[in-house]
Amino acid sequence: MPSPTDQRPAALETLRRVFGYDAFRGFQQEVIAHLTAGGDALVLMPTGGGKSLCYQIPALLRDGVAVVVSPLIALMQDQVDALTAVGVRAGFLNSTLDLDARRAVERAFVAGDLDLLYLAPEALGTRGVQQLLDQGNISLFAIDEAHCVSQWGHDFRPDYLTLSVLHERWPGVPRIALTATATSATRAEISTRLQLTSARHFVASFDRPNIQYRIVPKREPKRQLLALLRDEHPGDAGIIYCLSRATVEKTAEFLVDNGIAALPYHAGLDAATRARHQQRFLREDGLVMVATIAFGMGIDKPDVRFVAHLDLPKSVEGYYQETGRAGRDGLPSTAWLAYGLTDVVQQRRLIDTSEGDLAHRRNLAAHLEAMLALCETVRCRRVQLLDYFGETATACGNCDTCLQPPESWDGTIAAQKLLSTVYRLDRERHQRFGTGHCVDILLGRATDKVQQHRHDSLTVFGIGTELSEAEWRGVVRQLLAEGLLAVEGDYGTLALTDTSAEVLGRRRTVMLRREPARTARPAKPRGA
Ligand code: ADP
Repeated sequence: MPSPTDQRPAALETLRRVFGYDAFRGFQQEVIAHLTAGGDALVLMPTGGGKSLCYQIPALLRDGVAVVVSPLIALMQDQVDALTAVGVRAGFLNSTLDLDARRAVERAFVAGDLDLLYLAPEALGTRGVQQLLDQGNISLFAIDEAHCVSQWGHDFRPDYLTLSVLHERWPGVPRIALTATATSATRAEISTRLQLTSARHFVASFDRPNIQYRIVPKREPKRQLLALLRDEHPGDAGIIYCLSRATVEKTAEFLVDNGIAALPYHAGLDAATRARHQQRFLREDGLVMVATIAFGMGIDKPDVRFVAHLDLPKSVEGYYQETGRAGRDGLPSTAWLAYGLTDVVQQRRLIDTSEGDLAHRRNLAAHLEAMLALCETVRCRRVQLLDYFGETATACGNCDTCLQPPESWDGTIAAQKLLSTVYRLDRERHQRFGTGHCVDILLGRATDKVQQHRHDSLTVFGIGTELSEAEWRGVVRQLLAEGLLAVEGDYGTLALTDTSAEVLGRRRTVMLRREPARTARPAKPRGA
């Protein structure tokens, strides 16, 4: 086996001759040398870091055909076309091919007339594909989006579990697993499940200094969004993520009505429309894509200037992956998220009603809590984000909390007032009292509902006039984020938790983040 250093000139020559680039980025060259020499590798690189070349160049340098496992069936054709355009022999096998096309690819594989063969993970579990692979000469296995193997990750795909077959059936073939998102726990899980225990780890920094992170309280989300687009990103390409198809449609319409070139994208649109919108977004300048998270994986558009979230993402991993689609060209870009009380209520409800066992729901809740902690932090957003992925960083000076450090205030008394109100209402459990009703009581508003239930006679009635309604909502949101308060049922009824007693019993101080003033907006995004 050649030593890794022997391959370096050949790798650089291939990079220049085939791909037309001058130099390697980051640790591409080290990964390529290691894999080409027959070693296993686990590669963590942010989106746009250049993972593909890490296996494409070894595929050209080693004998045989490289087998690439990718869940992105919709993108296989594009990937193969891009390789074919530079003279690399590539093919794919997936459910979109007709029988003749399939047979042709299979023949090319067996004859060794391919450099790379792309497969969907589910294919590897089938006897037919396994027998086909036995007949050819495999140079390496590349497992893209490897975090999908993690049951506790945010994007689990059961088909990935069958990928342990690669090592069992073809033990001598080197393997490379690649992902743009993994905490250290997920990384460990990838190693065990894919039997990559002796693989060398290549972990790039996840820092994206050209992205300005901002998380704002959600007030009138569409108006806030419009202001962001008009004031800071006129004519820019960007992606706006929404949770539901309906919000996607409504938001896209709203933007178009306001003179912004926007397109919707979600799984409810037919395949042709989705493909057309995706192509337009990639090819035309300054289009805004309003989408569910169905959009974006594998999208390589360098000049996405902003990624906006109108709903709270379910996990920090998801959020980081989605915002990472901004600014791949290294120029200043914005990651903007509007987040409010209803997001917390909605996400908690989704978790409570989700299928799966208790362990699964706890896992979802833990992901949500990390996301909420990011929203409510008084630290630098970037420090908090990188910390989550196991990296240490210094305050960036560019995110909203660095530019306008949020004040914190002692909210213990406010928290006690709120929790006492919830406690009083809790005695009437069969009733449905959400946040609005609680706040009405605290503010001493004798609404119809308050009078009907005689809540104006409660001792807590009118004890909270020192705060505004918006401030009370902020208190509720932050207590929910900290787990000092819970929501239950379809109507978002507030309820006490095990830790609420610590606050009510004055054994715990509660520091809260002061809501930024309505008009405040940080300076324009800056470069690195
Ligand atoms: P990832 O899979 O990590 O998201 P890609 O492999 O799609 O990233 O690469 C992102 C972009 O960077 C692609 O357009 C790719 O051609 C380009 N690229 C990768 N490596 C280099 C390099 N060494 N020099 C210049 N461009 C590169």
